[in-house]
Amino acid sequence: MKKKTQLIHGGIVGDKHTGAVSVPIYQVSTYKQEGVGNFAYEYSRTGNPTREALESLIRDLEGGHAGFAFGSGMAAITAVMSLFKSGDHVIFTDDVYGGTYRLMSKLMNRFNLEVTFVDTSDIDQVKDAIQDNTVAIYVETPTNPLLKVTDFNEVNAIAKKHDILFIVDNTFSTPYFQNPISFGSDIVLHSATKYLGGHSDVVAGLVVVNSEKLAEEVHFIQNSSGGILGPHDSWLLMRGMKTLGLRMEQTEKSTKKIVDFLSERDDIVNIYYPGLANHKGHDTHKQQATGFGGMISFDVGSGERAERVLRKTKYFTLAESLGAVESLISLPAKMTHASIPRERRLELGITDGLIRASVGIEDAEDLIQDLKQALDNE
Ligand SMILES: *Cc1c(COP(=O)(O)O)cnc(C)c1O
Repeated sequence: MKKKTQLIHGGIVGDKHTGAVSVPIYQVSTYKQEGVGNFAYEYSRTGNPTREALESLIRDLEGGHAGFAFGSGMAAITAVMSLFKSGDHVIFTDDVYGGTYRLMSKLMNRFNLEVTFVDTSDIDQVKDAIQDNTVAIYVETPTNPLLKVTDFNEVNAIAKKHDILFIVDNTFSTPYFQNPISFGSDIVLHSATKYLGGHSDVVAGLVVVNSEKLAEEVHFIQNSSGGILGPHDSWLLMRGMKTLGLRMEQTEKSTKKIVDFLSERDDIVNIYYPGLANHKGHDTHKQQATGFGGMISFDVGSGERAERVLRKTKYFTLAESLGAVESLISLPAKMTHASIPRERRLELGITDGLIRASVGIEDAEDLIQDLKQALDNE
């Protein structure tokens, strides 16, 4: 089955009791048992038919063994980190999502989970970070906001050599463009709040694992810690996911046009987009993904200028988050990455004038005009 068909016909389709084509919202907490212990579903934290349809869909889309739905991307990441114990060590991409950095450095450290952040796009740094107690490598690619690319094959080789887990946050590329499990990853997770939901209306997280053992463990954690996604949000997410293919293709087309427009201007200092031939991760990304996506970052020279530009855009809404039908724009240094000290930010390459844009599915000409007037008239 091709991806666009799988988005419609993957997972559990329809309702076997009524024939309803859309999976019904089973808004229910508990289920009548035929006799003690004789039931299909017991309690909705443990299992719910609507959530299960979504979990089967993401499992199929990522080509894994089992899927799990959580109340947010962070709840999904927390559940995955609960696989580990005090004294274990995990290697992370250094510019991971800010919330992941906070979780690991301010919350998981309370349980003595040891972490090292390295530039995983440089495989020697990953090799050097391996310790006797390392249990996993956690990669985000492309990253936020610099769209750095990590080579799945290289990381997978190290993970297999040391018999440790290879975890990927696949939020930016989505399963439509990139399937880390086919490159050896053991666990793939998503903030489904972004492209999968796609309409700025649901907060959710998804996990896909690639073995029965991990499936049992993650289900145990999901049921024990309880950060599940409710039936209504599960349904809403599936509704959004049906058009993921169409949305990703449109956003990529428009993003290419916007990158061309920005490339022709001499008042833009730097443009970061993996689709650009001169982007450092271009070749690697091309070999492990089928599309470059709809995220771009560009440096307009200074923080003051960036703020003036952001005040002027009309269709690019000034907001956090990404991956929605509406175009969103933000200033990482003052918004998503504000909690990182400026010195560290500059080390990472997140300059004061760096603007991050998530290209929506509005008409590309309107989006370009919008950026043009903001850059010209600021
Ligand atoms: C937003 C995001 C998260 C966190 O997900 P929430 O749904 O906001 O909890 C994790 N990883 C990436 C890459 C994200 O963009």
